[in-house]
Amino acid sequence: MYAHFPDLHRIMLPPLRIPIYQPELGGNEKAYVNQCLDSTWISSKGEFIEKFQSGFARYVGAPQAIAVSNGTVALHLALAALGLGPGDEVIVPSLTYVAPVNAIRYVGATPVFAEADPTTWQVSPDDVAARITPRTKAIIAVHLYGQACDMAALADLARARGLRLIEDCAEALGTRIGDRHVGTFGDIATFSFFGNKTITTGEGGMVVAREVTLHRLALKLRGQGLADDREYWHDVVGFNFRMTNICAAIGLAQLERADDFLARKRRLADAYVRGLAGLPVRTHAESPGTTHSFWMCSVLTDDPAQRDPLRKTLRAAGIETRPVFHPVHTMPMYARGQTGLDVSVALAARGINLPSWPGLGEEGVREVCDVVRGHFLR
Ligand SMILES: *Cc1c(COP(=O)(O)O)cnc(C)c1O
Repeated sequence: MYAHFPDLHRIMLPPLRIPIYQPELGGNEKAYVNQCLDSTWISSKGEFIEKFQSGFARYVGAPQAIAVSNGTVALHLALAALGLGPGDEVIVPSLTYVAPVNAIRYVGATPVFAEADPTTWQVSPDDVAARITPRTKAIIAVHLYGQACDMAALADLARARGLRLIEDCAEALGTRIGDRHVGTFGDIATFSFFGNKTITTGEGGMVVAREVTLHRLALKLRGQGLADDREYWHDVVGFNFRMTNICAAIGLAQLERADDFLARKRRLADAYVRGLAGLPVRTHAESPGTTHSFWMCSVLTDDPAQRDPLRKTLRAAGIETRPVFHPVHTMPMYARGQTGLDVSVALAARGINLPSWPGLGEEGVREVCDVVRGHFLR
């Protein structure tokens, strides 16, 4: 945290009053976890795994779902199940959390970075199209901060060019295009249940594949590649990416409250729009025809030079923020001199994620907005 503010390093920062996120565990979490402990079903078998998987599949409108140990292995599993590997190029936005890019490397494939749309911040389908080569095998769409990617355009492109389409929905539980939940547009989709995601299991993830053959392969790879017809016989190199029953117990309790979390997060987003009106910042607006789930309520400062001073003012008032993700093509292990990613760089330089947990309330948002107003009007 302090590393962003070298000049604040030596002075005393006030304690955090408003964190950027905190999980809410006030439902059936404790009762369900205690059922695991009382029954001794604490490992990766047990009733909560099945209940969480089927409840989650129903929630997103998918035929089936596979619970895994985190959102990063969910991506790794998805790419492995699609058979991606050395020599294959996978197009991925540069403006993203690093996990989907790392997953491309885990399977030995090559990430090719695509540009962001300046309005939605999501990957630009036109730019994706321009980066397709004979080696391209897949596209990863990342629904960033709860906003939906243009899945109609990306699905058309994937179909026309014979590419696989993966959706990283880690930040997009509750995000819809029309009535349809994201994660149901591509071949395979992944979710994360890290502590700051819209629902959490501590660490956890989910893989959702549309076709039953792909689903069965992902299921098999999750559990060490166990053969269907012979005990303790393995006929592919699999992984242990299983979720524990304890995590699934927490996940089921969280899922029961997902609609409530999402409704309250939407009210926060609306309150930010009202509270920041007239100030030199732009909120991350919902695209027409979609439902933004506002995982992280985010703003761009009009002037990039205002971004860090504003974050500093907020921190001095005990309010935690985050910078929008650094473009991955600028990180040392992925810097191969790719060009045409200036929008991603510009968004990253101007973007701030604001406190976004459901329990913050409109009262909390007002407090944050007052500090932002004071910063600009002083
Ligand atoms: C959180 C996140 C992940 C990874 O999830 P973990 O559960 O932390 O491994 C992947 N992709 C995106 C876009 C994320 O935000």
